[in-house]
Amino acid sequence: MSKKKRILSGMRPTGPLHLGNLQGALANWVTMQDDYECFFFIADWHALTTDYENTDSVSDYVKNVMLDWLSAGLSPEKSTLFVQSHIKEHAELFLLLSMITPVPWLERNPTYKDQIVQLNNKDLSTFGFLGYPVLQAADIIMYKADGVPVGMDQIPHVELTREIARRFNHFYGKVFPEPDAILTKTSKILGLDRRKMSKSYNNAIFLSDTVEDIAAKVSQMITDPQRARKSDPGNPDVCNVFDFHNLYSSPETVAEINEQCRAAQIGCVECKKIMGQHLISALEPVREKRKYYEDNPKLVADIIVTGGSKARSVAQQTMEEVRSAMKI
Ligand code: SF4
Repeated sequence: MSKKKRILSGMRPTGPLHLGNLQGALANWVTMQDDYECFFFIADWHALTTDYENTDSVSDYVKNVMLDWLSAGLSPEKSTLFVQSHIKEHAELFLLLSMITPVPWLERNPTYKDQIVQLNNKDLSTFGFLGYPVLQAADIIMYKADGVPVGMDQIPHVELTREIARRFNHFYGKVFPEPDAILTKTSKILGLDRRKMSKSYNNAIFLSDTVEDIAAKVSQMITDPQRARKSDPGNPDVCNVFDFHNLYSSPETVAEINEQCRAAQIGCVECKKIMGQHLISALEPVREKRKYYEDNPKLVADIIVTGGSKARSVAQQTMEEVRSAMKI
């Protein structure tokens, strides 16, 4: 039997996870669990790179992300689920890699430039923020991952990780494989107001939302902006509700809505109600699992400890090789 390839990915704990996180990454991770040896980590140190001033919520967010993950179908039997800050070896490898990473490699990182502009209400002129791709590289190569599931925007990060691994191997001998970016298919899903779904825009449907929350949020969704009245033909191609139908309704319903919308035979209120019911049903297993894990906090704590031990034993082995290669 051929050995499964190892993949690694992480999420920053900055609040409850929403449908954008589910469709953008989590749903892929759940599927990949059967085909790969998976390491998934909650990147709490990474959360500090932008939110370092107030750290009160980080530990709660960590617990909630783990609950969201388990509810969405990540399985501690199939995958190693752990918290970054519990594995101190990540900090050691980050420090050693930072010694060999040229600063211009970090300054040209497109996300760095972009975020400095986007998050202009925060002082991001910190060493930690500039260096976060080095921490990311340490996270990935620590586990000698063969691949990293990513969206298009994260490809430069994986490329930088490959360059850092190559530079390390060049100086000290081959310790690290260069991980490949595994481009995952993501589904287009916007927030209630048609902007990117985000907790900070207050336009998200969360995995932890109740049935009532979901129904209320769906009713507020902005549809085809050109359609003012039910008697106006709509255009599903520009309607976010229709994108949700594509994800959560049957192909027959999607075809029907497509036709009826264009012929002005269905109103947006009714259309949203139908979609909302399908979304609520699709998320029923998520809510059930969440209830189970919420009622068993000791089990969740044990999952975090067990995942941490598995990750730590790999990390310790890697760090022995690193110290030996560097003769320190
Ligand atoms: Fe969108 Fe449905 Fe309204 Fe058409 S009927 S514009 S698909 S919400």
